[in-house]
Amino acid sequence: MREARGGTLILGGGFAGASVARLLGKQGSTIVNPDNFMLYTPMLPEAASGVIDGRHVVVPLRAMCPHAELVLGYATGLDEAAKTVTVATDEGDQLIHYEKLVVALGAIIRIFPIPGLAEHTLPFKALPDALNLRNHVIRRLEDAIVAEHEGHKQRHLTFVFIGGGYSGVESCAEMKDLVDDAMRHYPDLKDVEQRWVLVDAAPHILGSLPKRLGEYAHKHLTKDGIEIRSDTRLQAVEEDAVVLSDGERIEASTIVWAAGVQPHPLLKEIGLPLDEQGRVKVDEYLRVEGRENVFSLGDCARVPNLATPDTPDPPTCQHALRQAKRLAKNLKGGEMKPYRFKTLGQVAQLGRYKGVSETLGIRMRGFMGWFIARGYHLYAFPLMSRRIRIMIDWTLALLFRRDIVQTGAPPRKGHHQPETRHEAMAKGTHDEPAPGVAQDGAPSVTAPAEPAPEPKPA
Ligand SMILES: Cc1cc2nc3c(=O)[nH]c(=O)nc-3n(C[C@H](O)[C@H](O)[C@H](O)COP(=O)(O)OP(=O)(O)OC[C@H]3O[C@@H](n4cnc5c(N)ncnc54)[C@H](O)[C@@H]3O)c2cc1C
Repeated sequence: MREARGGTLILGGGFAGASVARLLGKQGSTIVNPDNFMLYTPMLPEAASGVIDGRHVVVPLRAMCPHAELVLGYATGLDEAAKTVTVATDEGDQLIHYEKLVVALGAIIRIFPIPGLAEHTLPFKALPDALNLRNHVIRRLEDAIVAEHEGHKQRHLTFVFIGGGYSGVESCAEMKDLVDDAMRHYPDLKDVEQRWVLVDAAPHILGSLPKRLGEYAHKHLTKDGIEIRSDTRLQAVEEDAVVLSDGERIEASTIVWAAGVQPHPLLKEIGLPLDEQGRVKVDEYLRVEGRENVFSLGDCARVPNLATPDTPDPPTCQHALRQAKRLAKNLKGGEMKPYRFKTLGQVAQLGRYKGVSETLGIRMRGFMGWFIARGYHLYAFPLMSRRIRIMIDWTLALLFRRDIVQTGAPPRKGHHQPETRHEAMAKGTHDEPAPGVAQDGAPSVTAPAEPAPEPKPA
């Protein structure tokens, strides 16, 4: 049996968990995480489009939390009476004993029972998803060149993104920039019409933004050639086509699912009190209801905020970081204080040189919006050495067009079935979907709150 360093065991080394460990500093902690890095998700669209090198959007946990011990593996069980967690590692199961437990398991992609969705869409949540999407899109250009049939060429150049939250919008805009840049290397495709479609069930994309900024984003993306299909649901996905709720069938070789997350399914198995959405219920000290020594935060928890008494925190990095600050202070001893945080604002990038931001009540759009969005993310990024790498990548992207090399494994579609039970738990593919929210903290948008309705006739 292993003892958690400093008595604190943290399950999940994402935004929330890694930040708690970092802020606990010399007090020490043990982090259990399947990867040895933390992913900075807001930069995932830029990693997909190749503006930033994929390795630069992740932070090595050992560098970020030098006083923490890292155990690479999946938490698979909790024994509250014995104060132990079972962790599946490459070396077999291990037991870790704790005095205080922090549950920060985040969320997983929410798959709706829409025919073909799990098999034929490309996920967009983790680093491999971004690299896969990039490879996939570049491969479509190559395939369009060799395709002899006009319809096939057209299908390879049709890209459908499902989800009008930040990740859907930002990834669609970034990938369009990538393809626009790449086109000079594919002169034979210049007469083939490209089609970019962004589908969202809500009446407006980026619904959590102030209305005028959302309208600006809509106008800019439309002007840039992206068809926005708001108030539209996904009815079915075929191998190379989507069927929408208005009856239209769009042939497309690229269909990206960026529409919803749900809390980690392990939470259900370990017996913590959950709300109707499957999130751990915590009090204002981020302590799990009815428990003295178990805490939870981030996307997997329903965190009450004294600054917004009517609404719990949305699942965003900004909130996860603030919750981590409060929890680390509370765990350091002394008097526990309740969590209170007033959001600093919101930012979104809409491809090259365009963006929207609302920070400290000041709204910006266009170049300034883009500049502030980038500045905010750079400021929020954990390690200086990483920030410098990102700045270098951004500078290179200003000087050169995007790279069109297809790297790594051949692209593949689908939300793949995991090979082991632990992978299943991590990916949640063994579980029924619970109500969810958009994966970047926007209210539930494309995702219907209940199982998808039966397809309607055209
Ligand atoms: C594509 C995308 C773009 C986004 N963009 C934005 C944005 O622009 N702005 C914003 O504020 N938010 C954004 N978000 C939301 C933001 O990423 C989350 O709110 C944030 O990551 C929550 O932090 P967390 O620590 O709770 O979860 P995560 O960061 O997801 O961390 C959970 C950790 O738990 C680990 N884990 C999973 N299973 C196990 C297990 N069994 N045992 C141990 N560890 C496990 C995971 O590997 C992961 O490291 C985006 C999300 C996505 C997917």
